[in-house]
Amino acid sequence: MVARTLPPATGFLTLVEEGGGPGRLPANPFAARGTVTDLRDGTAAQPLLVRLLHSGAPDGALAHRDGLTVLLAGELYNRDELLSLLPEGPPSDTKPDTDTDADAAVVAALFERYDTHAFRLLNGRFAALVVADGRAVLATDHAGSVPLYVKVTAGRLLAATEAKALRTPFLGRPVTGARPVRGLPGVHQVAAGTVLDVTLGTGACAADHTWQPPRARRILPEDEAVDTVRIALERAVRTRLDTTTPLVVISGGLDSSSVAALAARALGHKIDTVSMGTPEANEFPQAHTVAEHIGSVHQDITITTDELLATLPHTVWAAESLDPDIIEYLLPLTALYLRVGGTGRRILTGYGADIPLGGMHREGRLAPLDDAIAHDMATFDGLNEMTPTLSAIAGHWTTHPYWDRDVLDVLVPLEAGLKSRYGQDKWVLRAAMGDILPRETVLRPKLGVHEGAGVTSAFSRLLTDHGVPHEHLHDAKQTYVNELFDQVVAGGAHPDTVDVTAHAERISKLARSKAIR
Ligand code: AMP
Ligand code: MG
Repeated sequence: MVARTLPPATGFLTLVEEGGGPGRLPANPFAARGTVTDLRDGTAAQPLLVRLLHSGAPDGALAHRDGLTVLLAGELYNRDELLSLLPEGPPSDTKPDTDTDADAAVVAALFERYDTHAFRLLNGRFAALVVADGRAVLATDHAGSVPLYVKVTAGRLLAATEAKALRTPFLGRPVTGARPVRGLPGVHQVAAGTVLDVTLGTGACAADHTWQPPRARRILPEDEAVDTVRIALERAVRTRLDTTTPLVVISGGLDSSSVAALAARALGHKIDTVSMGTPEANEFPQAHTVAEHIGSVHQDITITTDELLATLPHTVWAAESLDPDIIEYLLPLTALYLRVGGTGRRILTGYGADIPLGGMHREGRLAPLDDAIAHDMATFDGLNEMTPTLSAIAGHWTTHPYWDRDVLDVLVPLEAGLKSRYGQDKWVLRAAMGDILPRETVLRPKLGVHEGAGVTSAFSRLLTDHGVPHEHLHDAKQTYVNELFDQVVAGGAHPDTVDVTAHAERISKLARSKAIR
């Protein structure tokens, strides 16, 4: 297996033109950090310009095969299964000096055989582009966890893993099956679990689903449900590890502690763990209990409220999300990633476990629990809460085992009574992890990242402290995020140039004059 702390590429910007042209890539910088390399690829009739954001092995991100070019940012988690579909053995590449075992090469071989349906086979965390004769095919993973943006006109297509990279004067046409991005005319986000087939000559697009959250529910005996969850999560953690020491960000709660414990067992050696707190509150003792139990090398990081709030523009810049609650939620994690240190760490999290398990629902009634799960699984798209760019602004790569495609396909459909049982939320997960975590960790009730670490509503407080009346708080937060987005995403400003406090004062003045309602 190839040693890979980070995937070969963590992001890209690319331009495909039909009939050739003097095309140039826009010069907008990425928020994500990494080595940037420009490559020219494709054919004379259909040149392809690629700007890769990589970790030193750019060749692994591109693969060629009989007139196909595949560009992949991210990684696959079901390589063994995929290789079993390729009886001729590991794919060979038609260009020399390319890593023939790379994920991009596997996708190229599968695309040759399955065309766009190849993307229904993949379990991964990726954004991909396939250029074939007269076509450009764009695809995200099942969860759209690596965001992918596109701008299309007849004969020309620009695509990138960050919307801000596509700030260009030319106007794009509407893209079927993709969402327009605020403030960036013509730029669209490819939906989660979607493959977009673009005919280059006309710019016409056809979208097709590669994954949808299951709506039907499975009824399983307790033992079988518990075993199935354990096996799926074990595999998802194992396939996310490489030969280096991973870092698991742990709150001391069940979700992240399970990931850390499974990672330590899979590797058979010490892993690194880190937890974050504020001067007001932390869960350090709970995290220490876990770290001692699994024998990890553990670090505590304390982040002040000012430091946290100073990260607001960076969070919007990285996540390119317009949802104020998601931004508030992601704030402490972004601040933590910026403080982790080291270069290019592979970071595993417990992020997202609560969505398929309904962990935010503690009152135990099954109908609202299953409703909330169905609703959250139907509405996550475009929030970008899993984006690797949040940690990539500090040069790191994150991956979230609970949002592995096969883990979701196990967790989402479990009937709600397996999730809420014996008065416990997330019962099936607690039962599945009982033998490898301390008892107190298994029994701990859920705390959100913004609760346990004492950062409850730091963003909300910034605004109320500046005099935003409570009844206008929600709208004020939305306006604040919209304006940040307009500055650092659509406007191309660097987040360091944003004055968080001055911004709050202005929004507050607006709110008090009831200009925002
Ligand atoms: P939560 O939404 O609270 O489950 O948080 C999502 C993920 O972020 C957790 O599973 C952890 O991996 C990470 N996380 C949350 N809070 C902390 C913390 N205080 N310190 C370190 N990591 C955390
Ligand atoms: Mg959690």
